[in-house]
Amino acid sequence: MACYNGLRRTMPAESPFRALPSVDRLASDPRLRPLRGDAPPQVVAQLAREVLAEARAAVAQGRPAPSQEQLAEAVLHRAQAVLRPSLRPVINATGVIVHTNLGRAPLSEEAIAAMEAVARGYSNLEFDLEAGERGSRHVHLESLLCRLTGAEAALVVNNNAAAVLLALTALCQGREVVVSRGQAVEIGGGFRIPDILRQSGARLVEVGTTNRTYLRDYEEAIGPETAALLRVHTSNFRIVGFTHSVPLREMAELAHARGLVVIDDLGSGCLLDTTRFGLAYEPRPQDSLGEGADLVCFSGDKLLGGPQAGIVLGRRDLVERLRRHPLARAVRLDKASIAALQATLLHYLRGEALEKVPVWRMIAMPLREVERRARRWARALGSPAQVRPSRSMVGGGSLPEEGVPTRVLAVAGDGAWLVEVARRLRLGEPPVVGRIEADALLLDPRTVDPRDDAALVAALKAALAAAAV
Ligand SMILES: *Cc1c(COP(=O)(O)O)cnc(C)c1O
Repeated sequence: MACYNGLRRTMPAESPFRALPSVDRLASDPRLRPLRGDAPPQVVAQLAREVLAEARAAVAQGRPAPSQEQLAEAVLHRAQAVLRPSLRPVINATGVIVHTNLGRAPLSEEAIAAMEAVARGYSNLEFDLEAGERGSRHVHLESLLCRLTGAEAALVVNNNAAAVLLALTALCQGREVVVSRGQAVEIGGGFRIPDILRQSGARLVEVGTTNRTYLRDYEEAIGPETAALLRVHTSNFRIVGFTHSVPLREMAELAHARGLVVIDDLGSGCLLDTTRFGLAYEPRPQDSLGEGADLVCFSGDKLLGGPQAGIVLGRRDLVERLRRHPLARAVRLDKASIAALQATLLHYLRGEALEKVPVWRMIAMPLREVERRARRWARALGSPAQVRPSRSMVGGGSLPEEGVPTRVLAVAGDGAWLVEVARRLRLGEPPVVGRIEADALLLDPRTVDPRDDAALVAALKAALAAAAV
C-alpha cells in the first residue's frame, strides 16, 4: 500500500491509472459509511467496481483520474439510483385520462383494498369454500360479467392482446380469418392485427380497401378454409371522408348463414354510454353481443377503469374452447388483478361507477370544478401562470380526436425554457408530467387526483425556480 501511494505521488503523469484506488479501498471509504444500513458489502463493492471501470475508461480517453472523493460521490449517487424502485407514482397532468405510458386506469379505493387483501394472505382463489375442495379462479368474475352484459359466458386473461390471441388460436388455427383492410391495424406497443393472426396460426385474408369495405367483399372472401370474420375497433385513429364499413349486425348475419363466427376486438370495452358526456359513441360489449358478435374481447384497464386484464364474452361453447386451450393457462390472470377487477365490476353492478371508478370520475368531473382547481393552482403560483380553456383526452386508444372540454393551468414562455421546466417537473419528486402545446406548458387538473393538488403546486414552484436560474 505504501508503495502504491508513493507511486501515485511521484509519477501521476506517466501512470494516471495508478491514481485510481482499488475496489476494496474505494468500498471502505468512510464517505460510503451511510450506505451500510441499506446495502450489504458485496453490493457496495459491485457499485465501486462499476464506478472504477468507468473512471478507467475515462482515463483511457485521456481525461484526468477522478479523486477518491469524487469516486466515493459517484458510488453514493449510483447507490441512490440503484436502491430506489425505478417504478414509482407520477402525477399525470397531461389531461389524457387513460394514458398507456403512465399506467392506464388508476384503480378505485375498493379495488386497491381488494388487491391488497388477497396479496397479503391466502384466499379462496381456486378453492370452493362450500364444498371444501378445489375450485376455479374463473368463478370470481364470470357471473358478474354475464350479469352486467347479458353474455352467456365470460373468460378473463392477462390482457386484451392475449384475449385476441387466445380466441384466434383456439378457434381459427390453420384456417382463414377475414378482416377488412381498414381494420388490419396497429394498436400501438407492438400489437398489430396481422402479426397476432400469424402468431395464432390463422391466415389473414384482407378484404376491401383502406377506406371502403362492403358486405360483398366479405362474402366473396369466404371459402372452405374460413373460420371467422374478425372486426377490430380502430381505436387509435379515424378515417374520415369517403368511407364505408360493414355494420356488425350484417357481418354477423353473413357469418352465421355460412356457419362461421364473428369475433369483435373492441379494444376499450366501455360499459357506460359515452354520449352522456358529450363524447362520441364508443361501442359497448353488450351492444356488440346484441348485434350478433359470437365473441367480444376488450381490455380491463382502459375505459372499464380496472386492472390490466383481457375480457372475453360470448357464446358458452366458444368460451369453453378458449378456457380448455393450453394457451389459456399461459395467459391467465393473477389473483391481485382478479380481486381488483371484481371490485371494479361491482361498482358497475351497484350503479356507483361514476362516483367510484377514477376514469369515470374524471370524465364526469364538471367543468366548473376543474376550473376552480385550475384557478386555485394559478393563484398559488402567480405569474406567469394563467387559466385557459382546452380539452382533456380520453386516450387508451378509445375515442380518437374526442375530448372533454376542460380548463388547464398554462405557463407561457419560450420553447427552450418550457422544455426545461417540463424536464425539471418530470425529474422532481413526485414526478409531474404535463404537455407543451404551442407557446405554453399545460397542466390539466382533470387527470390529477385532488389529493395531489398541493404536491403539484409545490413541484411547479420548484421547477419554475430551478429553471429560472
Ligand atoms: C388496446 C387494444 C388492444 C390491446 O389491449 P391490451 O389490453 O393492451 O393488451 C387490442 N385491440 C384493440 C382494438 C385495442 O384498442
